[in-house]
Amino acid sequence: MDNKISRRDMLKTIGGTLLFSITSTSVVAASRSANFVAVRVWPASAYTRVTIESQQTLDYKYFHLENPDRLVLDIQNAHLDEVIKSISVKVLERDPYISKARVGQYDDNTVRIVFDLKEKVNPQLFTLKPVSEFKNRLVVDLYPASVASDDDPLLVLLQEYNKGQVSSYGSTADTPVSVAVQNNGRDILGEKISQITGNNNAKPVPAPVVVATNKGSNNNSSGKTTTKNPVDSKPKSPKTPTPVPQPVKTPKPRSVKDTIIVLDPGHGGEDPGAIGSKGTREKDVVLNIARKARTELRNKGFKVYMTRDEDVFIPLRVRVAKARQLKAHVFVSIHADAFTKPSARGTGVYALSQKGATSEAAKYLAKTQNQSDEIGGVKKVGDKNVDNTLFDLTQTATINRSLKLGALILKELEKVNKLHKEYVDQANFAVLKAPDIPSVLVETAFISNPTEENLLKTESFRLKMAKSISDGVTSFAKSITT
Ligand SMILES: [Zn+2]
Repeated sequence: MDNKISRRDMLKTIGGTLLFSITSTSVVAASRSANFVAVRVWPASAYTRVTIESQQTLDYKYFHLENPDRLVLDIQNAHLDEVIKSISVKVLERDPYISKARVGQYDDNTVRIVFDLKEKVNPQLFTLKPVSEFKNRLVVDLYPASVASDDDPLLVLLQEYNKGQVSSYGSTADTPVSVAVQNNGRDILGEKISQITGNNNAKPVPAPVVVATNKGSNNNSSGKTTTKNPVDSKPKSPKTPTPVPQPVKTPKPRSVKDTIIVLDPGHGGEDPGAIGSKGTREKDVVLNIARKARTELRNKGFKVYMTRDEDVFIPLRVRVAKARQLKAHVFVSIHADAFTKPSARGTGVYALSQKGATSEAAKYLAKTQNQSDEIGGVKKVGDKNVDNTLFDLTQTATINRSLKLGALILKELEKVNKLHKEYVDQANFAVLKAPDIPSVLVETAFISNPTEENLLKTESFRLKMAKSISDGVTSFAKSITT
């Protein structure tokens, strides 16, 4: 359903806005009325998310007003209640995009929310069906309207993601498929294999950073505004002007200082991850451990980035895409999950498997982790078609390196906590799918185990975890530097 309001409707509504009063108190029968459950606002530098949770699916329309910039959201078949009114006090002063939210009964059947904006935004609105403990959700994501190319690549990637231009493997245009398409008649497969086996006659070319060359295709998102996205108008030229085969494999770092590490604190924003019986939230614990690990690694001279450094929801693919765009040599996702039995405990390290899980526990964990996008909430967009055969060749080599990385981290973690398994367990984790980056997921401890929840709450345990991750990554980095 396209919730976009036509220009004519908009002009009509703008006329109507003049009559709009936030003190309107029309009394209407509440029989068909939306039943609001909760309102949450997640301000973050990447984007601010407003979630309106309700018993029923919400019908909505929205439009922009300028001078000053506002976003107006009309929720139909709805009536003011304390829940929806609370939106006005939930906008924080530090919110980068919203200065104020006002709510009122616009007409007998419409609740109108006006977001006063601090800057021009690119809004993405969509609904989510009930999942986990959530009822129906209407999500209002406010992205900056313009993203400069020298901004955090995450912002650019989130824009691309919303247009369906980020594949399951991360970024889009640097896939072997696009290489194959651009190079008819060349033995791309042979070149690919020689790159993997190191028998590489082709001149090494750094992996390209191309994020916006696929305009127009696959953009089937709904509720889109007519706001022109400056990302589209700015050609992002690939590193090379003419298509040449691009090695999928990231060039080896020459030294520790050249080694790029991406740390990925799991969950965030709407997705709290697992919650311990004392209320400890996985998303908070893992962000703290990741920050500590970043400090440790930076002190050793590594270049370290994080997929998130605030309480924000980042889709799994965008996490992978960010690591690929940064040309990371190592990707470590950090978690503290729950199991159905509170007795389950122990630290674990996981890698990707393409041939089924190596244990039931790993399979269960991958399933719950892959749900993150449903819980955190992502807009349904077109998926990239990817030729898996080409990826599989690269990915097999990458998985072997991931197992090595995992084993080295496990060896360090063993000094801090009892291990869940003595080996690196494998399953189909979406966040570990970068075809060319050794990637592991560290389960620091089980937040569902009362003893381990207590450990996770202490600074000393978090620091030990961070140091172990850092030491394991360092051993691995030493083994890959040329
Ligand atoms: Zn987790």
